[in-house]
This record gives sequence, structure tokens and C-alpha cells, in this order.
Amino acid sequence: MAMKIVVEECLKCGACVMVCPREAISELTDSNGDIYYAIDAKKCTECKDEGGPQCKNECPVPECIVKAE
Ligand code: SF4
Ligand code: SF4
Repeated sequence: MAMKIVVEECLKCGACVMVCPREAISELTDSNGDIYYAIDAKKCTECKDEGGPQCKNECPVPECIVKAE
């Protein structure tokens, strides 16, 4: 039970990081030195106690944050 960020859709705005009540979203750097954002599936609860994914509510891109398979 976790959400994930579709890297190709992400605008790297950082808005999702602030709203996550579990501190599950991190700003990371790939091998090229580029920033990307990722959700730690071990920490993400899909915000089941907050009425649904807060990160997805905040994200400006509709299909950027989706359920992880
Ligand atoms: S669904 Fe909730 S717990 Fe999971 S990453 Fe988004 S804000 Fe954090
Ligand atoms: S809010 Fe959406 S677009 Fe912005 S960094 Fe998070 S996942 Fe990417």
C-alpha cells in the first residue's frame, strides 16, 4: 500500500514533500547530478488516516503520483 511518483511527469516543484505527514517523500540526486523525487514505500500509508493521498492532492500534475503496483 503505497503511492509512487512517475519521474517522467514530475515537474520537480517539491510541493509534495511539505504535505506528507509520514515524511515519506525525499528529494534525491541521480548519477547525472539531476534532482528527482521519490516516495519510500515502507513509509507511505497512502494517507489512509488523512482521507487519501495528500501528496496527490497537492501535485499540479494529475497523473504524476499514482498507486505503486
Ligand atoms: S500518500 Fe501520504 S504518506 Fe504516502 S507519500 Fe503521499 S503524502 Fe506521504
Ligand atoms: S508535487 Fe508532483 S510535480 Fe511537484 S515534486 Fe511532487 S510529484 Fe513532482
